[in-house]
Amino acid sequence: MTQMNRRILLASRPQGPISSDNFKLEAAPLAPLAEGQFRVRNLYLSIDPYMRGRMSDAKSYAQPQALGEVMLGGAVGEVVESKHRGFAAGDKVTGMFGWQEYAISDGAGVRKVDDSIVPLTAYLGVAGMPGVTAWYGLNKIIAPRAGQTVVVSAASGAVGSVVGQLAKLAGCRAVGIAGGERKCRYVVDELGFDGCVDYKGGNLYRDLKAATPDGVDGYFENVGGEVLDATLARMNPFGRIAVCGMIAGYDGQPVPMKQPSIILTMRLLVQGFIVTEHLDVWPEALSTLATLVAQKKLHYRESIVEGLEQAPEALMGLLQGKNFGKQIVKIA
Ligand code: NDP
Repeated sequence: MTQMNRRILLASRPQGPISSDNFKLEAAPLAPLAEGQFRVRNLYLSIDPYMRGRMSDAKSYAQPQALGEVMLGGAVGEVVESKHRGFAAGDKVTGMFGWQEYAISDGAGVRKVDDSIVPLTAYLGVAGMPGVTAWYGLNKIIAPRAGQTVVVSAASGAVGSVVGQLAKLAGCRAVGIAGGERKCRYVVDELGFDGCVDYKGGNLYRDLKAATPDGVDGYFENVGGEVLDATLARMNPFGRIAVCGMIAGYDGQPVPMKQPSIILTMRLLVQGFIVTEHLDVWPEALSTLATLVAQKKLHYRESIVEGLEQAPEALMGLLQGKNFGKQIVKIA
């Protein structure tokens, strides 16, 4: 019997919030391998905010995902068949394998991973791309000194949770901003931040002021809109802002900035970055992060749903803050 590969395609481009109509689940026969290729059975898919951007054809830093193609995305899996000298059946690997059960790869951008050091799923979060994103923005842009205050938004999430913990390890005061009391409690009690402000609590400006008595020296921006405005108002002179994401606007909502003049009056450094443009730092960052996880100095949380067909719903939930920690889909 022909073995089939279930996969999810991008069926249409969303106008505003995404819906299940934008995706199509189908099954196709497994294609044969050519020389130099190997087949990966996906075990876990990573669900990430950037996917919303790729679904759109608006101008951005990356090309849009093609219609009718398998949804792009990172995954961890196991090599099940190989005609590639560098990869053998049984190897655990991570790469851009897409929303499907089986992927064919030539090894480009694929990394072997060791699940005896950290669990496989961690390579999609804290010890993977989101972790490196946190490491890069904090160390290369904010570059905080001990005693300074670092604020991060989407603080309970894959990137934000690492930013605050690394800032603490660097001797800083770490303050998170997150949606809801439960997420804020986790950020303080389990991740060890010095404070966390619930931006849904109705007193963002007042609460952030109380949580940052010495002002803010470094801000790691994941959200945009009101959260950015409130933090700008707390920035100290010569503060640094690493602009990593603006998720509040990904579904097409406007994210206006009310007081851009603060950038001038406080002489701020504001730097946007895309982590995949800094591959030179990945080996150092990945090894630091995996070591910290193994030493239990870096904690993380995951939201894992089961079944390939759950991936669209998981992405929709991520864009509404329904995830709590790194969003993952378990495939096999
Ligand atoms: P998270 O795990 O943090 O999940 C997304 C979180 O964003 C949600 O849980 C929610 O948290 C928050 N959120 C969603 N919608 C809104 C909204 N409308 N307003 C405010 N907050 C919202 O995701 P990641 O850690 O993977 O990503 C965090 C950010 O980092 C994103 O902006 C992403 O695009 C960016 N990123 C950028 C990269 C780069 O190279 N520049 C690479 C990787 C990620 P809450 O409930 O607390 O609101």
